[in-house]
Amino acid sequence: MAQFYVNQNQQTNGDHEVHVEGCKFMPFEKNLLELGGHTDCASALEEARNTYDQVNGCNTCCPDCHTT
Ligand SMILES: [Zn+2]
Repeated sequence: MAQFYVNQNQQTNGDHEVHVEGCKFMPFEKNLLELGGHTDCASALEEARNTYDQVNGCNTCCPDCHTT
């Protein structure tokens, strides 16, 4: 189980990126929304969708959930 976070700031394409704790591309702490512990990124993205319509996995820490 890993701690997941979503960036409250959207990317230029409108995506809110989901990261695993410790990712080197983790946004500033003040911009993070905690998603809690998840066993995989799919579950974390599901959680993030409760808050944001457009979410995407980080290319570096969640490549399995990165779509664009
Ligand atoms: Zn990341």
